[in-house]
Amino acid sequence: MTLGTDTKLLNFVANSQDGYCIISANDTVEYCNEQFADAFSIPAEDVTGMPFEGLLRRGFELNRGINIEASSIEEFITYTRRVRRSRPFRLFEVDLTDGRWFLFSEQTNSVGEMLVQTKDITKQKILALDLEQSVDKLTKLSLTDELTRIGNRRALIDSVDMELSRCRRTGASMSLLILDLDFFKKVNDTYGHLAGDAALVHVTRIIQNSLRQYDILGRIGGEEFAVFLSNTTIEKSMEIAERIRSSIELNLLNYEGRDIALTVSIGQTTLGCNALFTELYDQADQALYKAKTNGRNQVVSYYS
Ligand code: GH3
Ligand code: MG
Ligand code: MG
Repeated sequence: MTLGTDTKLLNFVANSQDGYCIISANDTVEYCNEQFADAFSIPAEDVTGMPFEGLLRRGFELNRGINIEASSIEEFITYTRRVRRSRPFRLFEVDLTDGRWFLFSEQTNSVGEMLVQTKDITKQKILALDLEQSVDKLTKLSLTDELTRIGNRRALIDSVDMELSRCRRTGASMSLLILDLDFFKKVNDTYGHLAGDAALVHVTRIIQNSLRQYDILGRIGGEEFAVFLSNTTIEKSMEIAERIRSSIELNLLNYEGRDIALTVSIGQTTLGCNALFTELYDQADQALYKAKTNGRNQVVSYYS
């Protein structure tokens, strides 16, 4: 004897990997298969005849089944009353207290009866999460200078662009310092490339210690750094630049038992918030050029 199509369909639903549930217009569960009941951590036979809200309340009290993040169950139920049956078809993701994820779909007919389907999407969620974490890690790597662990040129430009849009709303002035180590080739030639690397890390830490929390530091080239100071006047930024310059001069690098003296030349400029990063950069770079030609180990402002 062959089964009728309706019976075959019911058999498929009863044994499906996906959950199925029919809910009456007055919100009582009329039918559900084991897979659906599993998402609520309760046997299917106990669900039939239960008000759907009762299923939610039970899960919340036992902290089992769907993960309800609201501070109270009443708050959550008020929310579900507002959204359920608000459209003929709803699709949403739900996480469970045991870490699984389900995709729920709700189809409501013209008299308010509802067919709910659930599909376990835990594997896909884990893959998506792994992918997201890998992208975050790669993004961080692509923006970080490997040697000094500070932002690279790209990171500095991105952060400054964000600061500039913020600054345009507040209307303050902003300053940029460009720092270039003096005669750095000589440091490499005299003490070796590894000593040069150690000097770059040493100088980075000194600069970091001279800055305020919101200042932005980046390594923009071999032995060149830039510091963006938002909401900072010429006087204040010259004071910060001078502090960096003198700290680098005073704090010798001790490398393998030898003291290595380092100095830096710094170009400074200050502009209003409507300026572009390239304008700030060009002016600070011109000032840096002057600092170099004037004898190095000094801070020069574009306005001097
Ligand atoms: P100036 O005072 O005119 O700036 O002289 P300088 O020797 O510092 O100038 P120049 O720009 O000609 O040389 C920079 C040197 O920095 C060349 C390069 O070998 C060295 N350098 C760049 N990046 C690194 C790095 O990552 N590690 C080491 N050890 N040296 C680097
Ligand atoms: Mg240079
Ligand atoms: Mg140099």
